[in-house]
Amino acid sequence: MKYISTRGAHTEGVSSAYAIKTGLASDGGLFMPESIPAIDLEFIKELSALSYPERAARVLSLFLTDYTYDELLEDAKAAYSKEKFIPQPAPITSLSGGRYMLELWHGPTSAFKDMALQIMPRLFVRALRKCGEEREALILVATSGDTGKAALEGYRDVPGTKIKVFYPIDGVSQVQKRQMQTQEGTNVSVVGIKGNFDDAQSGVKKIFSDQDIARTLDEGGVFLSSANSINWGRLVPQIVYYISAYCDMYKGGIIKIGEKIDVCVPTGNFGNIFAAYIAKMMGAPIGRLVCASNKNNILTDFLKTGEYDKNRVFYATMSPSMDILISSNLERLLYVTLGQKKCAEYMRKLAAEGKYSLEASELALINESFVGYYADEDDCAKTIKDTYENENRLIDTHTSVAVFAANRYMKDYEAKSKMLVVSTASPYKFAGDVLLSLTGEKPCDDLDAPKALFSMTGVAVPSPLETVLSKQPIHLGVIDKDNMADSVIDFALR
Ligand SMILES: *Cc1c(COP(=O)(O)O)cnc(C)c1O
Repeated sequence: MKYISTRGAHTEGVSSAYAIKTGLASDGGLFMPESIPAIDLEFIKELSALSYPERAARVLSLFLTDYTYDELLEDAKAAYSKEKFIPQPAPITSLSGGRYMLELWHGPTSAFKDMALQIMPRLFVRALRKCGEEREALILVATSGDTGKAALEGYRDVPGTKIKVFYPIDGVSQVQKRQMQTQEGTNVSVVGIKGNFDDAQSGVKKIFSDQDIARTLDEGGVFLSSANSINWGRLVPQIVYYISAYCDMYKGGIIKIGEKIDVCVPTGNFGNIFAAYIAKMMGAPIGRLVCASNKNNILTDFLKTGEYDKNRVFYATMSPSMDILISSNLERLLYVTLGQKKCAEYMRKLAAEGKYSLEASELALINESFVGYYADEDDCAKTIKDTYENENRLIDTHTSVAVFAANRYMKDYEAKSKMLVVSTASPYKFAGDVLLSLTGEKPCDDLDAPKALFSMTGVAVPSPLETVLSKQPIHLGVIDKDNMADSVIDFALR
């Protein structure tokens, strides 16, 4: 399987190892496989009898053809072990009314990004070897919370790599800050930035494009790489859990083999829901994909009108991992549905004017699979309360957006299919806002919120999160945003 750019570069195709090592295509586009491998119901039946790591290796091997099955199985077993995912990687639980929940937050950092970032570093290290890369990789991340911690956990002590994370010192939750400040590992660096997430992000982008820095690092035997969701290595492990969820629903007698299910995904950068769409394109019996957004409802508008317009107010919401105005992976959807030419044209427009508009026929094509809904802050809080009171289930602020959207969709469309709602974080990761939604109050100190939420509900706190809350912070450095480059060079060459 070869990989090409969504915008036209690499027409001859590159290997999956090269795509994973490089991250971004040379023309600024994203890597996509040149065709989507097909699966059938026999494949799903077969997979149903297997463990999660075995399912992962089988699905990954359809895309990463320059990795051997044994390599993929070894990596999947290490990534999705019983020590890392407690009690298991992607369990399904049931709600009322034909709704089911796919819980993706049982990993080391209590958010769904672990599903990809536990295995991606292993695939990445193999990619370096397969590409003959002898330099050390420095993974550079700007984070608004969840990605930074998940990347740190994934890359800690991985040979041949170092990882450095910048976060806005006052722009992440107290729990997220404590998670990062207590990070262990001999190859990690965590630094707070005086500024907001955009400052951290543009600082990192500047470092990536600085040729002098690249040369200095190269002379020291180091090169920079990224861990964000435009990398194919982060997207491909996410396809696995949609197919695995279907297997589990079939095996559990919830659906008959071949019966279509709908899927609702709380969406920010469009990575998670796009992985579901690839599973559907491969042949997994998936009907509608419901794209759930928060008050930053640019995707809801896009799926309704065909116009993508980023010139709008940005809201900081209680589901911060979905606060986003440019959903990078939407580019991949345009590519697979409208083709490379149209995709490149719309991306040029987006860069130049901040907006583009689909033709009616193009929107209709996308609407065959996708529908968008959004929840504002009140909807989100009310859904947390209702779900707790009526279903006795505690959900986080991101999952709540999806539950709200799924409910609306099922009502509007009188949908009969079973609905799989994707749950992306433990409620304890956003305990302050969950408490506020349930009771109208929260503790002044965010770090006291998990304890208070536990006293109220008796729902167990994930053990990695509990451990983190009792640890002493060790990464206390805070720097001016103008000093990020020096900080990177120091850490890279030390
Ligand atoms: C990152 C994240 C999302 C959004 O996922 P995308 O792949 O960016 O659409 C949703 N919920 C949580 C908890 C997240 O951390």
